[in-house]
Amino acid sequence: MDSRTLVTMAAPGNPLEVYATLPKTNCGQCAPRTCLAFAGALVRGENRLVDCPHLAEESVARLAAYFENHNPPQHEQETELRRLRAGVAAIDFSAAPERLGANLVGDALGVKCLGRDFLIGRDGSIVSECHTHAGLVIPLLRYVLFSRGGRPTGNWLPFRELERAAGRDLHFEQMCEKPLKRLVDTHTELLKDLIDIFSGERSVNLFASDVSLVLYPLPRIPVLICYWEREEGMESSLHIFFDATATDHLSVAWIHGLCAGLVAMFEKIALKHG
Ligand code: SF4
Repeated sequence: MDSRTLVTMAAPGNPLEVYATLPKTNCGQCAPRTCLAFAGALVRGENRLVDCPHLAEESVARLAAYFENHNPPQHEQETELRRLRAGVAAIDFSAAPERLGANLVGDALGVKCLGRDFLIGRDGSIVSECHTHAGLVIPLLRYVLFSRGGRPTGNWLPFRELERAAGRDLHFEQMCEKPLKRLVDTHTELLKDLIDIFSGERSVNLFASDVSLVLYPLPRIPVLICYWEREEGMESSLHIFFDATATDHLSVAWIHGLCAGLVAMFEKIALKHG
């Protein structure tokens, strides 16, 4: 396997899946006037997320991750990217490497994501040796803009214990941990392959797991994946952990979005390589 597996395959969006994340109050403040009609309009690209004034930040992040893999309305992402790029143009590049765990490469900021080099220009443009997947690019630019700095402490926490994650953990489990567990159950070599593809690190028996590995989707946001194999009378299980400092760099909603994007990418890798 190699980095070319990062190429995305967009599938049609499903209005009912989108509807599940909307407020479902039918308040009538968007042009279609009902949440179900709004879901259909989003899928067709006729409305934008900002057209619903009642979407929580968490829902916006979740839907942005969803549309990344389901024919996203391009203008929505482009608006967000333009906004973030304009923000990058205003930051102090000389102070950024220390804050972000990055380095200066000529006039650009060099940031390692999943073991690959991404060069960010002063205009917010990104150059990389691999496909610049929007599911990674938007969190990357948000990291560059909003990270408060600081290094990981090695204190691993489950998602539910991150700052402001209360009440969101069930959805994280549904969107990230369960799909990844199903994937590893059927593609037993996947975790080992992920270490090779994304320059991950194998950890030894963390939390008494059978396999555990650390990936670095962003330099100061390591992600620990622990997998417990099936035993007689016991189902397999998989949990994802974050350093206690993760929310110093990205909001919990975007950490969720980043992980959902990673899992979607791992699914494509597993599908492509059997
Ligand atoms: S504005 Fe939002 S909450 Fe109100 S009907 Fe439209 S989608 Fe539903």
